[in-house]
Amino acid sequence: MSDTDWNQFDLATAAVRAGQVRTHEGEHSDAIFTTSSFVFESAAQAADRFQNKIPGNVYSRFTNPTVRTFEERLAAMEGAECCVATSSGMAAIMATCVALLEPGDRVLAATGMFGSTTQFFNKYLTRMGNPVDFAQIDSVDDWRSKITADTKMLFLETPTNPLTQLADIKALAALAKEHNAILVVDNCFCTPVLQQPLQLGADIVIHSATKFIDGQGRCVGGAVVGDKKRVGEDVYGFLRSAGPTMSPFNAWVFLKGLETLELRMQRHCESAAQLASWLSKHPGVGKVFYPGLEEHPQHELCKQQQNGFGGIVSFEVKGGKDAAWKVIDSTKLISITGNLGDAKTTITHPSTTTHGRITEEQRQHAGIKQSLLRLAVGLESPRDIIADLEHGLS
Ligand SMILES: *Cc1c(COP(=O)(O)O)cnc(C)c1O
Repeated sequence: MSDTDWNQFDLATAAVRAGQVRTHEGEHSDAIFTTSSFVFESAAQAADRFQNKIPGNVYSRFTNPTVRTFEERLAAMEGAECCVATSSGMAAIMATCVALLEPGDRVLAATGMFGSTTQFFNKYLTRMGNPVDFAQIDSVDDWRSKITADTKMLFLETPTNPLTQLADIKALAALAKEHNAILVVDNCFCTPVLQQPLQLGADIVIHSATKFIDGQGRCVGGAVVGDKKRVGEDVYGFLRSAGPTMSPFNAWVFLKGLETLELRMQRHCESAAQLASWLSKHPGVGKVFYPGLEEHPQHELCKQQQNGFGGIVSFEVKGGKDAAWKVIDSTKLISITGNLGDAKTTITHPSTTTHGRITEEQRQHAGIKQSLLRLAVGLESPRDIIADLEHGLS
């Protein structure tokens, strides 16, 4: 069904079926093509394939059938023309920036992004001749005041980690258009199940497939999603020359992840909502950060632009760092690890781990207190997750 127009089907259907090309063996599940190169019938065919005169595989850094199935399936789920898979989420971000920016082009990025993204922007992108400015993620006015004539890319991830602040994608897409810039959205926390940035006006979507798309913490991978020219030609062209492409085995694992993504996201959201509600009533807990709570300052925006409130909940423990560490160290079930989007619930203390390398002043400015904990709610029974947190909170 590779010629099917998946727009006529619901996301859950595309997630199970889009992109599959059956071989003559008639396999029901997708095949894994673990091969580095492909053979030709003749010297003439080899020459034509190398020169792109006829379609077909040459080498797995260029194309691979399993990887292509993953790309087509994710593109269908985001409602996009095109998707290219990468070796990691960071490779997707790097490839997008290197392929789409000219020297001197400025990037305007959101505050509160994933640490490696900020590091890549500040340390390397700047060095390649692309200065990076930062805007307060939840203030369209701040974005407007920071945009310059040289700004060619707006970059954000929403909701943010760990404080669950949202960017208004529609408003920022309009702002980008007004200034002849493109809007890139890292959609790793929501996945296409909860949010489809391209439908809200964004130009490019980035994924770390490592998180919810895999969903069981097994493989590292990523993707860039968007139109045929920017993604299918420019980003793809960079990837095929520079090399950080996805392995067929990882693509197969992610394909299996996509098949159950909608179901899993529903469960992540339901359990996170239960936890957020329980935490917000707990006497040992201060502020709770979850867009599903009515007191979240962007609760209404979240209802408009997302199909669910997500699986990440953060909260401040009364008693500061010692009390927060006690909650972590008293858990018996929850994993103490930085990864998220896993079937297993994970807990982290951002100020000494993911945000440990910035200064205390920068952390204060970002609102990341010593008492803050982040939960990436997994697929266990929410009752058992609550009981596990209660050990250290009571
Ligand atoms: C993890 C993550 C990345 C980077 O993805 P990798 O697959 O680890 O390279 C990028 N953005 C966000 C929001 C992430 O959580």
